[in-house]
Amino acid sequence: MSQPQSQPMSPPFDGGAASAAYRNALKVIESVEPTVAGAIRSELADQRESLKLIASENYASPAVLLTMGTWLSDKYAEGTIGHRFYAGCQNIDTVEQAAAEHAKALFGAPHAYVQPHSGIDANLVAFWAILAQRIESPALAKAGAKHVNDLTAEDWETLRRELGNQRALGMSLDAGGHLTHGFRPNISGKMFEQSSYGTDPETGLLDYAAVRAAAREFRPLILIAGYSAYPRRVDFAKMREIADEVGAVLMVDMAHFAGLVAGKVLTGDFDPVPHAHVVTTTTHKSLRGPRGGMVLCQPEFADAVDRGCPMVLGGPLGQVMAAKAVALAEARQPAFRIYAQAVADNAVTLAEGLAKRGARLVTGGTDNHLVLIDVTSFGLTGRQAESALLDAGIVTNRNAVPRDPNGAWYTSGVRIGTPALTSRGFGADDFDRVAELIVDVLTGTTPSAAASGAASKAKYSIAEGVAAKTRDAAGELLARNPLYPGLELD
Ligand code: PLP
Repeated sequence: MSQPQSQPMSPPFDGGAASAAYRNALKVIESVEPTVAGAIRSELADQRESLKLIASENYASPAVLLTMGTWLSDKYAEGTIGHRFYAGCQNIDTVEQAAAEHAKALFGAPHAYVQPHSGIDANLVAFWAILAQRIESPALAKAGAKHVNDLTAEDWETLRRELGNQRALGMSLDAGGHLTHGFRPNISGKMFEQSSYGTDPETGLLDYAAVRAAAREFRPLILIAGYSAYPRRVDFAKMREIADEVGAVLMVDMAHFAGLVAGKVLTGDFDPVPHAHVVTTTTHKSLRGPRGGMVLCQPEFADAVDRGCPMVLGGPLGQVMAAKAVALAEARQPAFRIYAQAVADNAVTLAEGLAKRGARLVTGGTDNHLVLIDVTSFGLTGRQAESALLDAGIVTNRNAVPRDPNGAWYTSGVRIGTPALTSRGFGADDFDRVAELIVDVLTGTTPSAAASGAASKAKYSIAEGVAAKTRDAAGELLARNPLYPGLELD
């Protein structure tokens, strides 16, 4: 009988059982489409062999991953728990209920809606729910109707004319906000008239007085907080005060830092759940669940949120809701708090290790799970730095820095995060070594000219031997902290 063999920072699993499960699954897949089986094998090998520092990625447990490959996938279940548009949904009811109950207990939320297929979907559900809750009620009263479905086409026309465009105020993209927070390339930027708040030009920190001033001037329907690339905590109590002052709904997108909220690293004023009207999240980043989204909300938004399907979502993915229930059950274990604290501690070690070796960091450091390096301190663009690091076996992503002179494509930053490597068991010494390797690569990289001789924001060269030496050193760290130890496919 095999013993649990996973790293202390991951949920325990039986390596022998997981190996048997995956070997047999791959045999079945191989018999139909060997290309896909090959890609699955190869993905595990790639993940095992690289230093994964993408701040939005993690390694879900075998229990979470295996839950997704099941018959729950084959069931249609539009509607809500116990109120479906299809017969025979009792098992989907069971898993959706389990996920929602775990989410409510874990985050202390009055209501949880676990159907969104992704973070974008969760935000869409939230936007429509806020519009419905804030607009339908007065509209219904005005039209003397009982339900939104009773509004006539004429009522809607009048409403659209009277209410005009709706406004959303969110963090600017270059300060670390997300596309779905009202920006043009996303539907949110077409649904809402958008304005944004940035960060202090000196410190790089959120300036709450500036947010308040922007909110007073713009008077948004929704004040959006949350980020993809801001390396600091946000004071959600203050954001709620600002929202209340201008009559806005406070929506917090905690997609990135949900794991730190679940693990009680972000508490009190820094926990969005007690302060926001609506909280959205992904389940696959620091929370370490399956790819998916979720909405938590105050009771007055619950009915509107529950109409996510069919308003903006198709039929719920039973297999993913089930995997969310498994991941949330894992996150309710005391060990997850230890993991979340280690994620934050490791980020501090990484930031200190980078700064002491000369890297310039946006805001000077971190108090969450991510660090943003301004790579112009190495004479590089984000694109050059990202590519050079990848050549050396270090997977990161380029990211804009505030007021980025290189724009959103080439950028001037590289974003790095600790959730994934912490799941592998990386500790302080390992992260200090990671910082050293990153600085070695960035110091050893120089921009190259394009073929035309003009300066290039993409081309670069790495000093002889640096990439190979870094790969070897990374290999040692990875071997010391194996991914899914005990899980063998052959
Ligand atoms: N919200 C934030 C803050 C994000 O960082 C992301 C993704 O990176 C999303 C939403 C979108 O999540 P998804 O890719 O699951 O749609």
